[in-house]
This record gives sequence, C-alpha cells and structure tokens, in this order.
Amino acid sequence: MPIIYIPTALRPYTDNQPQVQVEASTVGEAMQKLTEVFPKLRQHLFKEDGQLRSFVNLYLGDTDVRHLQGLETPLAPDAELTIVPSVAGGSAAALEKSPIGSIIEDERLQAVSLSQEEVLRYSRHLIMPEVTMEGQRRLKAARVLLIGTGGLGSPLALYLAAAGVGTIGLVDFDVVDISNLQRQIIHFTSDVGRPKLQSAIEKIHAINPNVHVIPFETRLTSENALDIMRDFDVIVDGTDNFPTRYLVNDACVLLGKPNVYGSIFRFEGQASVFWAQHGPCYRCLYPEPPPPGLVPSCAEGGVLGILPGLIGLVQATETIKLILGKGEPLIGRLLLLDALGMRWRELKLRKDPNCPVCGENPTVRELIDYVEFCGLRGEEAPAETHGIPCISPQELKRRLDAGEPLVLLDVREPYELEISRLPNIKHIRMAEVPERVHELNPADEIVVICRSGGRSAQITRLLQQMGFGRVKNLTGGMNAYAREADPSLPVY
Ligand SMILES: [Zn+2]
Repeated sequence: MPIIYIPTALRPYTDNQPQVQVEASTVGEAMQKLTEVFPKLRQHLFKEDGQLRSFVNLYLGDTDVRHLQGLETPLAPDAELTIVPSVAGGSAAALEKSPIGSIIEDERLQAVSLSQEEVLRYSRHLIMPEVTMEGQRRLKAARVLLIGTGGLGSPLALYLAAAGVGTIGLVDFDVVDISNLQRQIIHFTSDVGRPKLQSAIEKIHAINPNVHVIPFETRLTSENALDIMRDFDVIVDGTDNFPTRYLVNDACVLLGKPNVYGSIFRFEGQASVFWAQHGPCYRCLYPEPPPPGLVPSCAEGGVLGILPGLIGLVQATETIKLILGKGEPLIGRLLLLDALGMRWRELKLRKDPNCPVCGENPTVRELIDYVEFCGLRGEEAPAETHGIPCISPQELKRRLDAGEPLVLLDVREPYELEISRLPNIKHIRMAEVPERVHELNPADEIVVICRSGGRSAQITRLLQQMGFGRVKNLTGGMNAYAREADPSLPVY
C-alpha cells in the first residue's frame, strides 16, 4: 500500500501520525482517502473547489507530482508520497521525547528559575511545546564545555549563549590571528592579537549577560582533561587535531559523558554524538589515528569559511536536544555533509565490542600520551626534515641577490603560486616530480620550495635518492622566506 508522509505542521490533524498508508492507485485518490480518514486535514490541503492549495506540494519519491501527471499520477503499491507544505517558521509540532531523556537531573532543575527578563528573552522558546518553561530551565541549569573557540567553537558559543545555556566552559590558549577571521566569527578584526578566550567571553556576554562563562586558558592535556571536564554535562569537541580528538573521546568514555563531535575539511563535514553508555564512541569508528601527514589539517588543506557554521550548528542542535531530552539524538549515526553537492548523508555506526576504550575488555583505562599515540612530536609536527640538506631564507636571499646560479624548484599547486612566488622558478607540482624528473639536471644546485617546508623536504629527499647531489630544502618554505627575507611577499 502506498505510504503518505505527513509533515510536522499537519500532524495535529492526523492524530500525530507521521505516516499513513492508504489503498490508492493515483495521487488524487490517495489524497482523497487520506482526507476521508482525517477530515480535518481537508481544508488544509484543498481549496473549496477541490484543487490542491498552492502552498502544498506533493512529491512522489523525490519528484514534484506537478512535473508528473498531477493528481492523475499513478501510484505503484510501494509508492512513497510526501506532503511538503511551505513553513513560515512556526508549527504545532508533535512532542518527540528522546529515548534517553534529559541529561539534566530533575533535582538540579528544581533549583533553577527564570527572571522576568529571561522569560521575555526566551519567549520564542517558551511557547514551543518541545521547550516550555521546564526546558528553558534545563538549559539554564546545563553546563556545556566547548573545547576550542575556533571555527566550530564560534557558532557553538554564540548560539548556545543566545539559547540560554546557563554555564559555558571554554578551553583555548590561542591568540586571534587574522587568518582565523574568515570562519571564526566570534572574533572580530579588532581582536587580532588578543587571547581568543577574552574575545569569546566578551561576545558571549554581549549577546547574553546571563551566561556564566568558565574559561580554561590552557591546552587540554592528559593531565588536566578529567579535572576540566568532570563538572560539565556535555562536552563539545571543536578541535582540529587528532591528539585532542582522541583525548576528548577517551576522557568522555572514562567520565561517562556525551561527546558532541564535529569535523570539517574544505567543502566537507562530519558530525555525530559519541556516548559510550548509549552507543559507539569515536574509537569504535576510528580505533587509531591516520599516520601523520596523511590527512591534511585545515591549515594545510583549507576550509570553506561557512562550513564550520553548518557543522557547528549541528553540534549546537544536538547539545540542546541532549539538554532538553527531546528528539532523536545523533547517537550511532554519522552525519556527512558534502556542501559542493549540498547533500547530507547518514551512516549507521555500531558499537565495537573490541573497542579499546568502550569495548568489553578495554585496554585503555586511563588517559595516555595522545601526541605520541598519533605519532606526532608536537601539535602540528613539521614533516620529517632530519638529515636533509637545507638553506635558510636569509641565505637564499643573499645568494639570489648575488646572482648565483641556483635552480629554484617550486613544488606547490598552481593556485599557490598566484599568492606568492619567487622570480624565475621551475614549477613542477609535487605529484608530478617523479615523472618529470628528467627536466632537472643533477649537476645543478637545486633549491626545493613549498609553503612551509614540509612537501619540499620530501621532494628534496626523493631527489637525493635519485642521485641529485646538490639539492637543498628551503627551510620553512615561502612563508618563512616572506617573514624573514622579503616582507614584501604575503604569508598565507
Ligand atoms: Zn568505542
């Protein structure tokens, strides 16, 4: 029998049923049968003359029936018909209670009340059946910890503060850099050079002075993580490096807390809620980090500025749902966003019984050294440059100025050359060097150049192995050259 999906706005007229099955061979017949079963629905779907109202769209599968044969469109027995009304923002939604319930215990709720100013401020929440006074008091009682006030942390902090989360903890030790402003919208141009925490606290209080902010001006480490996280209800991971991501996951599993996860890269994003008591953790998905250098960071690979907004707000939504105890949490599901195709997909995640942290026989029972676990020597370990012959930016500048015959081999991507480049370079993209190596003369003195010195170090080593005896790596790449030798060039 064909299925008709009923949108939230119309469910008050279908006894809150989200889907209805009717015996019908055309779209029109299905709608007729539907309104016979639920007569109150009729006036919302049809005009007096029996025509469909213009703001009601009917989709068969993913196609608007107006592009098929309208109400005459035949229905197969397994057809799926969706009613898509235009929505102005409000709707009488069905109450969807989360299977987990609110993370805020009722005793804590009793201790919290709202002032008159807060009642007015949150009035658009209070009239929603999913929130009401009780939900708003749960939000006020809630304590949410944001790890990082960067791309994901910015929209998270702004929206959670505006929504009335009572206590927000912030962990960050960084200073606002001008290259942050393209996506970290809690920081303004006038904040460049200031600590991110200070900048974030000011914006949070400017939006909502009722929010209590607890700053932790430190790097999250295995030594301090449990103490910092212990008193919070929900931990939101807004970090962009693997050591902190595994640290946050393991600490959440050990403390039994939900970890609201998000990650971004270029045009793609991921989000999930990892909560070992109710579903899988991050390690069930990725038991081990990728080898260093295999997955580029946003600093290396770039990220579209709006993307952390999209993913950060998925995280903020999930956080609020956990506090309200409403809806279906993103537990056991990995949400994938491809913003170029503008497609959201969802993958089912399973709890791994052999998971090293949340499995049946966990091998990780306390926090470990995550920098070492991820194979890194530091937060952003530079590529291996040990034992590779190199040339400093100053020395290269001096020798170029002296007119010495150096071959400058730039291995970056073409769009990087548009940002900054030296004159008279030989350009071969890193990936093409092996097949185009015959264009280089082993007798020449070659200086290999990239952005920060990592890619060029790999190529320097490769050329050495191929018998190039006079090849050198430009230490720190074009950015170091711009900073130390030629300030007329931009840093990127
Ligand atoms: Zn696990």
